[in-house]
Amino acid sequence: MKLVTLGTGSPLPDPNRAGPATLVRVAGRDFLFDCGRGVLMRLAASWTGPVQIEQVLLTHLHSDHVTDFNDLVTMRWVMSPVENPLPVSGPPGTAAFADRTLAMLSDDIGYRLAHHDDLNWRPACSVTEVSTGVDDGVVLDDGVARIWAAPTDHAPVQPTVGYRVEAEGRSIVIAGDTVPCEGLDRLCRGADVYVQTTLRRSLIEAIPAPRLQDILGYHSSISDAAATAARAGVGTLVMTHMIPAPAPGTEAQWIAEAQAVFTGEIVLATDLWGREM
Ligand SMILES: [Zn+2]
Repeated sequence: MKLVTLGTGSPLPDPNRAGPATLVRVAGRDFLFDCGRGVLMRLAASWTGPVQIEQVLLTHLHSDHVTDFNDLVTMRWVMSPVENPLPVSGPPGTAAFADRTLAMLSDDIGYRLAHHDDLNWRPACSVTEVSTGVDDGVVLDDGVARIWAAPTDHAPVQPTVGYRVEAEGRSIVIAGDTVPCEGLDRLCRGADVYVQTTLRRSLIEAIPAPRLQDILGYHSSISDAAATAARAGVGTLVMTHMIPAPAPGTEAQWIAEAQAVFTGEIVLATDLWGREM
């Protein structure tokens, strides 16, 4: 397996961090988790692209996690030599979201169908909405890889899920935006790598903007993420989607804050950071 943090930014535009997106490659197959700003550029840098993606798995429908979904749909369509519907998994609401995306693209779809004689099919998504109840939903289980989802807690945004990929005796958790919760603990139990969107509470609390204070309640802080990692006995905590993006030179402070709670390996991800495992 290979893990690549394609985009490690948050909604706040950053010159060096694309929006949230993570790639997991299993036996040559590429699974894309979320589709944030610039995802196709980061996939290109990872020597893959929209045509090859095996499946897109959305953690939730917040704009920063899906803003370039439409780019993925369009470029998969126009770059594929034959019909190539995009498999998509996500929480309930994902099918309607995909339908609305295709509706938004209807002008462009019309232009390209009229222009290219050899393009005579429309873009399509095949959507599977995963369980967000007390039961965990299996997204894929084909003997080589197993991917399952569990509900997370990003309230008031609902529903949201995290994913666990298991293959070749290893496991990776893509948690998405969530505070610590039972579903997250189930996903993380004994995982080799746990990828968590993280905020640094002290920095956010110091900015007197009510809209920023609102985000404190629905993201894992550094110590929250570290506590989840410690409780679950994971091997490596990967912090991503940092809010705010660490100022150059402050990375060690983020790591130290996590080390106070979790004694395993800690990674503060940058775009295109990768781990073969
Ligand atoms: Zn979110």
